[in-house]
Amino acid sequence: MNTQVEQAAIYQKIWDVVVVGGGMVGAATALGLAKNGFSVLLLERQAPNLDWNELTPMGIRVSALTRASENILRNLGGWDFILQQRHHPFTAMRVWDEFTQAEVAFDAKEIGEANLGYIVENDLIQAALWSEFKQYDNLSVLLGERFDGLELPEFAGELTSLSMANGASLQTKLVIAADGGRSQIRQMANIGLNRQDYDQCAVVGTVKTELSHENCCWQRYTENGPFAFLSMGANYSSIAWYLPIEKQQWALSLTDQEFAHEIAKASDYRLGQIIEVGQRGAFPLIRQHANHYVKNGLALIGDAAHTIHPQAGQGVNLGLLDAAAMVDVLANAKQAGKDFAKLSNLRKYERWRRGDNAIVQLSMEWFAWFYQNQLVKNGVRQTVLPIANQLKPAKNWLMEQALNGREALPSLAQIYAI
Ligand SMILES: Cc1cc2nc3c(=O)[nH]c(=O)nc-3n(C[C@H](O)[C@H](O)[C@H](O)COP(=O)(O)OP(=O)(O)OC[C@H]3O[C@@H](n4cnc5c(N)ncnc54)[C@H](O)[C@@H]3O)c2cc1C
Repeated sequence: MNTQVEQAAIYQKIWDVVVVGGGMVGAATALGLAKNGFSVLLLERQAPNLDWNELTPMGIRVSALTRASENILRNLGGWDFILQQRHHPFTAMRVWDEFTQAEVAFDAKEIGEANLGYIVENDLIQAALWSEFKQYDNLSVLLGERFDGLELPEFAGELTSLSMANGASLQTKLVIAADGGRSQIRQMANIGLNRQDYDQCAVVGTVKTELSHENCCWQRYTENGPFAFLSMGANYSSIAWYLPIEKQQWALSLTDQEFAHEIAKASDYRLGQIIEVGQRGAFPLIRQHANHYVKNGLALIGDAAHTIHPQAGQGVNLGLLDAAAMVDVLANAKQAGKDFAKLSNLRKYERWRRGDNAIVQLSMEWFAWFYQNQLVKNGVRQTVLPIANQLKPAKNWLMEQALNGREALPSLAQIYAI
């Protein structure tokens, strides 16, 4: 918690940017902007645990980080923290289908890479970014304070104001909403959503398997939806088990022994029996895309702007690219002596990121359709999947796209950023 003196100074100041939400995406945005000389205030409900060691229990939420995300974390300075704690490179991926049993194998060495990405716990990514905050005295954090009003400027050059539940208010040139899928800021700004429930949930947690995962991520497509093992430490994998939403309570109510049995069955015993299960959780899955990312004095970023089906592990990767693109757009305007918070400038960020995010959302829809449609099941899947593994150029292209991104990368996502 902030002291009274710190709080008074925070409310008196006019901030360049107030970032609401200090999850992985908000923390990366705040850090990137501070690095570029902006005065930044980060508003977060709850501080993450920064006190990590080998005994810190394994978190149930993990992310498969692409090379672009790795670069963003390296360039922001958080990557060493992750390396000192826990990180799990995966070198291959095997995807197969319950119905045809056809398997497609992706291997990092086919594209001359050491790995296809890293599996890292979400709490660790967030802690790594927060541990860098102390490097910047132009970055402050306001913890645990609620806001209950947002006033956006009518004209360029005016300030945005956030009224706090304690009666004070925050004045800033720009609010960046990184407050997640249920973004309160997005609702207060009356930005609508294109939304669809997948009627599925993801059951996640860590398990120990009888056989080694061989640093490979395994994904099986079943009638209910996909099942995945994401390789962690020796014989430990994080699981993502997708089920119809009505099975969520059932999956959470199983005893550890029953759960282990169901997981082994869902994975077709690919890694043998499950010999240990840890804590588990379940999340309903929703696709949503904000109708606009920007307004005068406001921008949405990360899950506040878009959420997608996690089967391809792209959510936070897209969010980190949003953060890096936002940093480029604001820093370029500032360097050119222009008003960085002006709507026409913010639209550059929207144009850069909205199309890319929509393409990834659409490709997830296409995947779901491919694996659920009966006609496809009886026809195309039987013909295409058995030969898909032979299509090397197509597989290599897919690996490159998933690992390195689809379009011009923002500076922070490139290897040699400032
Ligand atoms: C089961 C599952 C598996 C996934 N796997 C992957 C994967 O492998 N790879 C991948 O890239 N993505 C994955 N994702 C998606 C990924 O988890 C999200 O895209 C990512 O967490 C979004 O980060 P964010 O910072 O935008 O939002 P969040 O993580 O939701 O963070 C929002 C932050 O804002 C804070 N906040 C909210 N409201 C307020 C408020 N009023 N005041 C102050 N602070 C506030 C919260 O406390 C939180 O810290 C997965 C998602 C699910 C559900």
